[in-house]
Amino acid sequence: MIFLGTPIFEPLLLMEQTVYGSRGEKKTTMAESRVECDLRSFSDKLETMGYDVTIKLPTILPDPDFAEILALTKAGFKGKNQRLIIEHFGCRICVGYLVSNAPLMGGDYRYPDFDVDRCSDCQICIDACLAGALTQSGYDQKRCMDYRENLNNQKSIAAHSIVKCNRCMACCPIGEKTLWE
Ligand code: SF4
Ligand code: SF4
Repeated sequence: MIFLGTPIFEPLLLMEQTVYGSRGEKKTTMAESRVECDLRSFSDKLETMGYDVTIKLPTILPDPDFAEILALTKAGFKGKNQRLIIEHFGCRICVGYLVSNAPLMGGDYRYPDFDVDRCSDCQICIDACLAGALTQSGYDQKRCMDYRENLNNQKSIAAHSIVKCNRCMACCPIGEKTLWE
């Protein structure tokens, strides 16, 4: 299993655009597109070499199950915002993975361990979620989606380019904020 991701250096990488391609119309963010492109490129190469590959595309939404799988790598921990939190960028990352029977070549590409839950008694993200989708114990995807898809809660940047809620990612104090400030 190989994880590929990108840090979300700035909020504009979360701007959602409608793109048109051979698979039809699709709404995606620049962060997700970037990781999908890397995953497909990696996958294509491995398949050309005769290996089996399955890919899991990234999402910029909270994803408790995925965060738990990622936390098994000890590269980070699952925060109360139901996202993987790593040392350098906190939860401001976009990650997908591929599963393959290709043999690993030498080297150790793992991140240093960062698996101690640093949320403690913080609950900034829970308070920041105006949809009430985050609680101490979980995440209600329907509430989150309903809130994000409500036009009143979206900001239009340009034609076909909008920004939806990302408060639970933006507010977390762990990790560098780079251009977020
Ligand atoms: S803060 Fe926004 S993105 Fe995060 S869970 Fe709530 S509605 Fe969803
Ligand atoms: S905002 Fe606080 S509670 Fe939420 S994930 Fe970040 S550190 Fe944890």
